[in-house]
Amino acid sequence: MNAASALRRLWVALLDLLYPPRCCGCGAFTGSWWCSTCRAQAVWLAPSEAQRTLALEGERSLLVCSAARYATTLITAIHAFKYEATPQLAEAFADPMARAWQAVMPDALPWVLVPVPLHPRRERERGYNQSTLLARRLGAQLGYAVTPRALRRVRNTAQQAQIADDAQRQANVQGAFVADPRLVNAKPILLVDDVYTTGATLRACAEALYAAGAAQVSALTLARARG
Ligand SMILES: [Zn+2]
Repeated sequence: MNAASALRRLWVALLDLLYPPRCCGCGAFTGSWWCSTCRAQAVWLAPSEAQRTLALEGERSLLVCSAARYATTLITAIHAFKYEATPQLAEAFADPMARAWQAVMPDALPWVLVPVPLHPRRERERGYNQSTLLARRLGAQLGYAVTPRALRRVRNTAQQAQIADDAQRQANVQGAFVADPRLVNAKPILLVDDVYTTGATLRACAEALYAAGAAQVSALTLARARG
């Protein structure tokens, strides 16, 4: 974190004291970043609904677990989390993600949490990577190791949200990620991201992790936009 963003976060913390936070979902002055009404209105997925399987190259597949549908005021709150400097939302979001994961994967594997990386330039602009914040909170809750540097984004791709066509989204992230074998070899990796839309990004990350020797790759997202 650079000095400017550290100062900005200090300033935000000071403002929180002076002016209680406004809900990032509905805008109500409730004193929380994501209010209980918004939490109750979110469409949480039951364990049987929370899982999707994506095909990878060869015989492999990727299990993706999502906590909620990308719907209701959760959309507004996720947008704020990504683009409006509200890292505080990580705490509210990680909690239902941890519960969703434990419901679908009640095993004792020593999962290593790896956030989907931003390009370094974008992370500098934003001041943080929202997926890393989620991974850190999840690591604390689930007792898993967190390895934010295991994956690197080696190409500054166009934002997936700006691309409507599925095939173009896949092409946009093809080869965009490289994993460090020293950090992932022979380990079960749990990828962490905020939203699962077409799965193009998660798939590209999983291929890079398997290429670096990961024993197994699954993914956990806060929300799922389709299906
Ligand atoms: Zn709200």
